[in-house]
Order: sequence, then C-alpha cells, then structure tokens
Amino acid sequence: MAEYDYDLFVIGAGSGGVRAARLASETGARVGIAEEYRVGGTCVIRGCVPKKLLVYGSRYGDEIEDAKAFGWTCDGVRFDWPTLIQNVRLEVDRLNGLYTRALENSGVDRFLTRATVAGPHEIKILDRDETISAKYILVATGAHPAMPEVSGREHLISSNECFQLEALPESIVIIGAGYIGMEFASIFAGLGVSVTVLYRGDQVLRGFDMDLRDGVAEAMRDRGIDLRMNTQVASINKDGDGYRVALKDGGTNSASLVMAATGRVPNTTGLGLQQAGVELGWNGHVVVDEYSKSTVDSIYAVGDVTDRKNLTPVAIREGIAFVETVFKDKPDTMDYDFIATAVFTEPEIGTVGLSEEEAREKYRAVDIYKSSFRPMRATISGRNEKMLIKLVIDAESDKVLGIHLLGPDAAEIAQMAAISLRLGVTKAQLDGTMALHPSIAEEIVTMRQKWEAPKLSEGSDA
Ligand code: NDP
Repeated sequence: MAEYDYDLFVIGAGSGGVRAARLASETGARVGIAEEYRVGGTCVIRGCVPKKLLVYGSRYGDEIEDAKAFGWTCDGVRFDWPTLIQNVRLEVDRLNGLYTRALENSGVDRFLTRATVAGPHEIKILDRDETISAKYILVATGAHPAMPEVSGREHLISSNECFQLEALPESIVIIGAGYIGMEFASIFAGLGVSVTVLYRGDQVLRGFDMDLRDGVAEAMRDRGIDLRMNTQVASINKDGDGYRVALKDGGTNSASLVMAATGRVPNTTGLGLQQAGVELGWNGHVVVDEYSKSTVDSIYAVGDVTDRKNLTPVAIREGIAFVETVFKDKPDTMDYDFIATAVFTEPEIGTVGLSEEEAREKYRAVDIYKSSFRPMRATISGRNEKMLIKLVIDAESDKVLGIHLLGPDAAEIAQMAAISLRLGVTKAQLDGTMALHPSIAEEIVTMRQKWEAPKLSEGSDA
C-alpha cells in the first residue's frame, strides 16, 4: 500500500499547474489535479490569448484605413463585435479542449471542482466531501482582478467580463493604467469606443522606461484616448443606461461601462494554506524560496499565486523547475533576469532589461542611445506614427542593460533582443552586427550617436 493517494496533487489547472502535472506524471509519479473553473487558467481562458485576439481585431480599422493610400478600395467596411467575440470564444474552447486532452493523455487524474489544503499532505475535494493525500502539493491557483474600494464598486467590471460582453459599449471609463488598463484602452478605442483612462499617478505604466511611458501616452492621446493623470475615483453611480464616475477633485465622467484594471490578487483566500502552516505575504501570495517551496516542506507554489513575475511563460518555467527539483532530483532555480515583456497597446511596447532609471540607480555610468523615426509604411499611409528604439548601456563594461521599443512589432523584436541580452551582448557587438535593410529592428545595430540630455541654454530661467 502506498503511503499517499498521490505523489503530487496540483491545485489549479492553469499554465504552471498543467505543465507541472504533465511533466511529473511523465516521470511515473501518480498525479492528480483540481480545477474549479476551466482547464487552461487565466492566460488561455480570460487573459493573454483572448486578449491578443481582441488586439488583432482592434487593429484592422487602422490597417484598412492605411490600405487606401496603397491603392486598395475599402468601401462599406463595417465592424461586428458579435462575430469577433464569438470567434474568440470558439478559439478559447478549442484551447481548453487541447489542455484537457493533454492532461488526459499524460495520465493525470482530473478533479473538476474546488480543492483546498487540509494539511501538509491532505487535500479536500469539495464536491465529493472527500479528503485525499499526496506526498507533495503544488498550489498553482493564479490570481483574480483586484477591485478598488470605492463607493459603487459593484458597478465595476474587470477584464474577465470584457470577454462576456454581448455588445460593445459606446463609451468606457477604465480605472488604472497598468498592463491591462492600457491594453483594453487600445482595444476598445480601436473598435470605435470612446475611452477615458483615469490614473492616480503622474504617468501611465509605472515601472517601465520613462521614454516608453511618455511615448505611449502621447500616441494614445493622438488616437483620441482621454488619458487623465493624477485622478482618483470617489464613487460610481448608475445614471440612466450608463454610469457616472465622481472624481475626488470634484469632476465627473459619464460612460456606458466602467472597468477596473487595478492589479490582481493571488487566489489564496479560503484555501486552508495558513492553517496548514504556509506563510502568506502582504497581498496573500504564497511565500516561497528559490525552489518554489513554501514554508511547509511538502507544499510548493508556482505562478501568479506567488506574485513573483506574473507572466505565463514564467509560471510554466517555474512548473518545470519544480518537477526537475522534486521529481528528477535535479535542483533547478529560476533566472528572473532579462525577461522580455510586451504591452499590446497601440502602439505596442516591447522591452527587456533595465529601464534607464533603474540602470542609473545601479550603475555608475550609463550611456543612452535613442532613435525616434517614422516607420517606412507611414510615409505612404500618412499615419502620424513614430517608432522609438532605446538602448541602455553600462558605460564601463559596454554591456547592453536594456532595450526598449515602442511601435510596430515591438514585442517580436524584444523577444529576439532578450536572447542577446542574456548572452551578455555589448554595444560593440551590436555595432558589429550587419543591419537587415529595410527593417525597423536594424536601428538596434546602427545607432552610433550617444544621446545627451539637452543642456539648458545660458540665461535660461527654466
Ligand atoms: P498592474 O499592476 O500592471 O496595474 C495596475 C494599475 O492600477 C496601476 O496603474 C495602479 O496604479 C492602479 N491601481 C492599483 N490599485 C489601485 C486603486 N486602489 N485605485 C486606483 N488605481 C489603482 O496590474 P494589471 O491589472 O494591469 O495587470 C496585472 C498583471 O497581469 C500585470 O502586472 C502583468 O504581470 C500581468 N499582465 C501581463 C500582460 C502582458 O504581458 N502583456 C497583459 C496583462 C496582464 P499604480 O501604478 O499607482 O500602482
């Protein structure tokens, strides 16, 4: 008789949990997994994948407009939201099926219900009122949208509900200017919705390089999005068919919908973790060591529930490292440096490495190279768009510390740039790389002129 029912029990079938369950099962371990919603997790069901499909959908309007200058006749063009959202849902269903079959094929037992931790080796399966045991428990329950504590918060939708909308609103107010707020602002604006973003800070996308933040804000304003900084919401009230948002400075805003994009909270409430001895952090995240082990030896956690780097590929890699460490006896830790990330706004952000501000804090001397130019296709389309490419260099070692891009294909370029940064590329090596002409990315290897902060002229009283 085995000591435990399972060698591994995973709670949460998102990107990290599914990968860990499948890989552990491939080692011959007996694995169970519980999921209370749909197999696939945030990324597949109501995050990255459906969001990126909406991004694609939202960009066709501009492309069709631009096509005219290239000789295309585009009369009678119309957009139909039900077609787009229905097709997005079909794709989500397809991926949900793929994930489910992958689990089945790898011999993992699936429990499509909520499970909680009942002890260091015990898991309670809720709909069966049954407790099962496992040598190891992996918590991979992800996170959910945080809703701000404002009066009328029950009127707010989150990004989750955006995928459930049966009709597009005429106008929307979005609270928060992080990844989700900015991406949905671009999506809705691209589909013809009037968009206002209310942000409590000085500039959107806190934590990103300042040139990217300024550049994307300017470009989004040019596209008609009303970005309001230093603005805090006091209350939200129903007003006819829509809502009235009262601001703390006394102003008001009316819109058909109000969306909160104010961060995400790890899913640990009611999971029984603290009772089992697992330490939770300030926002409820599971505190783990470099091997993703919690403060209880048999309980590990990966992905957004640990609030390290909340990105899908990171959760997957954490799941892989967990299996290497625990089931293959090859202790494996994560390297969180040089993780490329994108914000799928219009224009798009792609970035890897340190921002200029971070680099100046960590290094004695930093060189900056910047290029801002009109992408070639805009010369004919006439669109007022600019590409920004910025390199952050350690002046002493010549190492490239960061590459930041704003404009077409920024995400694709940042992914490739991440490889060279991980390999420790220097500015001289970039300079020695032949340009691919004509392309946007060639600018990365052709910039020779260091950027100097503009000097104040003599007698200037600025
Ligand atoms: P972020 O933390 O990126 O942004 C939250 C925004 O809401 C910030 O502007 C923040 O302001 C503001 N905010 C937070 N709390 C309040 C409050 N109480 N009242 C008013 N404003 C508030 O979170 P998101 O929800 O946008 O995204 C969550 C995570 O999901 C991201 O961090 C990212 O890891 C992941 N993600 C990644 C994507 C990608 O890779 N493309 C896409 C979408 C999500 P302040 O800056 O002042 O804190």
